[in-house]
Amino acid sequence: MTAQSPTFHNSYTQLPDRFFAHVAPARPHAPALLALNEELAEALGLDVEWLRSKEGLAMLSGERLPNGAASIAMAYAGHQFGGWVPQLGDGRAILVGEVTGRDGFRRDLQLKGAGPTPFSRGGDGLAWLGPVLREYVVSEAMAKLGVATTRALAAVSTGGDVIRETVLPGAVLTRVARSHIRVGTFQYFSARRDVEGLKALAYHVIERHYPQARQAENPYLALLENVIDAQVDLVSHWQSIGFIHGVMNTDNMTLSGETIDYGPCAFMDDYHPETVFSSIDRGGRYAYSNQPPVAQWNLAILASALLPILNDDKDLAVADAQALIDSVSPRFDAAIVERFRRKIGLDDERAEDDSALIADLLSRMAANMVDFTNLFRALGKLPDEGGPHTDAPARDLFVDPTAFDQWAESWRRRLGRQGRAEADRKSAMDAVNPAFIPRNHRVEAMIAAALNNDLEPMQELMDVLSRPYRDQPDKANYADPPTEQEHVTATFCGT
Ligand code: AMP
Ligand code: MG
Repeated sequence: MTAQSPTFHNSYTQLPDRFFAHVAPARPHAPALLALNEELAEALGLDVEWLRSKEGLAMLSGERLPNGAASIAMAYAGHQFGGWVPQLGDGRAILVGEVTGRDGFRRDLQLKGAGPTPFSRGGDGLAWLGPVLREYVVSEAMAKLGVATTRALAAVSTGGDVIRETVLPGAVLTRVARSHIRVGTFQYFSARRDVEGLKALAYHVIERHYPQARQAENPYLALLENVIDAQVDLVSHWQSIGFIHGVMNTDNMTLSGETIDYGPCAFMDDYHPETVFSSIDRGGRYAYSNQPPVAQWNLAILASALLPILNDDKDLAVADAQALIDSVSPRFDAAIVERFRRKIGLDDERAEDDSALIADLLSRMAANMVDFTNLFRALGKLPDEGGPHTDAPARDLFVDPTAFDQWAESWRRRLGRQGRAEADRKSAMDAVNPAFIPRNHRVEAMIAAALNNDLEPMQELMDVLSRPYRDQPDKANYADPPTEQEHVTATFCGT
């Protein structure tokens, strides 16, 4: 059998012309495959042999697209760090079409870094190797951690130069997403008072992501509630694994509920609620502890963009939207407590005391510069009956180990009140507390090696991160926090 090129659907190009611009990808100089995600390709029903062929590389680099592919840049707007930008759009990304995976869901294939578009606003439309590999590794690690996310199908070097502070090698990432529709896409039409556009977009999103909303009395209100549910679930998942997105602008929040736009993101090492990585986030707007309130802010922006189609009666539209937005904060409180309850080995509900127990642990961790990932993983190894003599793996992570001992006494009293076998409790904890996350110093080292044409650190990192919930004793050093020299304090926007 000969290798098969993908069969594309193009539902987005059937929307009105003002939703996107047709563009041709830039011609790469000398494209070469850096990484191909074969497991994902198979799940998407794509032919790995074809992807590895000359035609496959031509598509993944933007050199030549197969028959049936679209080639469009999507229009959107957004609030960046709280400031309104009426027109953003895909400035360095080209949508080539949708494929239907083995799970029956359609997914977009998008080339990120394949040249300028009408939305580039003076940018070059290109990406360099660093952010492309960062997104490849971190988004795939997120997927293996079980977090809803866009995926990485391939990374290709273009053979061309990208000018930033220095001259850097160009690269293209093939991003896979349930869709690339963002809060900012709705804002784009709402700001233009384009009610027909809003309706067409909302209809498209309902058909694609929330078909159950069709049956609701008010499908657009049901859409908003579904997106709220998806985002509360997503961002509380981030909180539970110490993921900091870094640029939660409204154009970086999807309607599908997938994590998107891995720019200056990073996982926390030491726990501190005010942790920020993005070098451009001087006010800490997107700090770890601000992620839930910022998600609520973004959802309120979505709600106001939807107002013109929620109800012909403006007051009723506002009242309905407001009620849903008011529900976001209590939904977050419940979702986050639930995630952390599981992280500390509880499977029954005693809401009041549990949130205090969790908050007490976190404040002790912050005061003692405790590694977030390693502490929860270590907790899952501790016996039901124990004390300082058994607890070294956890207590030794504290500057003052007695701060842990005090908390551990309350924790064990609480464990004693749930009738659960110790072995069950431990394995349930191991299933939610990862041993391995893409630590920033490892990601930076992987990029530095790739710049020297050494892709082995990337492959090894990807391999460890493909089994994040499994102890891998021979890879234990991948769980180590950074040394003082390795410590990365800032990450930069993926431009
Ligand atoms: P981001 O910060 O990645 O969410 O991007 C914000 C906006 O800037 C989007 O409209 C991007 O398409 C655009 N953008 C980012 N980098 C570039 C680039 N190198 N060339 C053109 N547009 C860009
Ligand atoms: Mg973006």
